[in-house]
Amino acid sequence: MMTIADLKNWFSKHRSEIKEEYFRFLRFASISADPAYRDRCEHCAQWLAEFMRQGGLQTELISTPGLPLVYAEDLSAGPQTPTLLLYGHYDVQPIDPAELWISPPFEPTERNGSVYARGAVDDKGQILYAIFAVLCWKKMGRSLPVNVKFCIEGEEESHSTGLFQMLEILGKKMRADYLLVVDFDQFDRDMPAVSLGGRGLVSLEVTLIGSHTDLHSGLYGGVAYNPNRALVELLAKLWDAEGRVQVPGFYDDVVDVPEKERSMFACRYGKEDYAKACGIEAFGGEKGRTLHEANCFRPTLELNGISGGYTGAGMKTVIPAAAQAKISCRLVPHQNPETIGRSIAQFLRQNAVPGMKIEVVQHEGDSAFRGERTSKLTQAIAKASSEVAGVECRYILSGASIPIVPELVKATGAQMVGMGYGLIDDEIHAPNEHFDMHRFEQGFLTVGRALALL
Ligand SMILES: [Zn+2]
Repeated sequence: MMTIADLKNWFSKHRSEIKEEYFRFLRFASISADPAYRDRCEHCAQWLAEFMRQGGLQTELISTPGLPLVYAEDLSAGPQTPTLLLYGHYDVQPIDPAELWISPPFEPTERNGSVYARGAVDDKGQILYAIFAVLCWKKMGRSLPVNVKFCIEGEEESHSTGLFQMLEILGKKMRADYLLVVDFDQFDRDMPAVSLGGRGLVSLEVTLIGSHTDLHSGLYGGVAYNPNRALVELLAKLWDAEGRVQVPGFYDDVVDVPEKERSMFACRYGKEDYAKACGIEAFGGEKGRTLHEANCFRPTLELNGISGGYTGAGMKTVIPAAAQAKISCRLVPHQNPETIGRSIAQFLRQNAVPGMKIEVVQHEGDSAFRGERTSKLTQAIAKASSEVAGVECRYILSGASIPIVPELVKATGAQMVGMGYGLIDDEIHAPNEHFDMHRFEQGFLTVGRALALL
């Protein structure tokens, strides 16, 4: 049996070597969004595959239509034993605005006990502690109690394009009983959490076209219907005064989750936290729903951008030829992204000013996902993380989406659980992303110990 003490011991003995590998991993500028960084992403994948191979895992660098996938496994526990698939990503977000970084984003630097670098948390720090947790079992000469597989992709920050296209082929290879997504947050400092789901997403772009060209607002004023006006009138019809989305069928598949079930998930932030963290004083959502409910259990419809006409310096008295809006929805379980997208498109077409030309583009969406609270992996992660922190772990839901997760669940047949030691102020996706070795170690201990509990 592997205890927390065994793992702690190993970690402290190998601390400097662990940190060295962590820093090496962080030095690759593996920005997946920018094609100019393609070779650096590939080098990062090669390094990671080699690192895992040297750790004693059967490792493959798998080409995809996008960036390569690092796949590794240890199936020595045998076919009678459950299989755990760990998911993470080696790609990172772009660094802009670059001038706001206090130290260079790809030269990991320690300040006040934190490691500053792009990817320090998301997701290099997180997936690396999970890799070390598995390798440590092998290095200590213990046989792994379950079969272990790793799927570490290079395009999580770029819609997982390559992995999506490979799932049909790779699904069988990655078949597992449990899927551990190591890309989530903890509840609060020294307060661990198990993440049991996220929302789905669907997005659309709508354009209203009133004329061939921009028009003089005097010569054509009172004649032409202004597309900007038509657009804001149209968009305003999307909600009623209570904040309920007016698109027919929008809530048809939404299950009203009773308070008792909702309260099994911890609420991380209240109005004061949002006001303090980002200055929010006006709150959206449907009337009569709590913030927790609105953020985790209800779908949303948001206007992500509106444009049309002249927005430069000074005035230009113009009736624009066209106006556009970008719309997206966060979806809850049972809502079908394609159906919801189609309903919104139809609503927009039916409610636009007669005669105004309307174009709607619907992008591919993804579904919400949920883990099982009673699954063995959920219980193992909950118990391990509670032991590590010395406090009871929380169960949480995320309002955000990880598009690949529901598809991975489908392709591999596994039950999902999310874990992580990120915090809201780690500045992931922003300048000065940082993580600390204390939380890195907590993550390592949690995964290492959970293996023993599976
Ligand atoms: Zn991530």
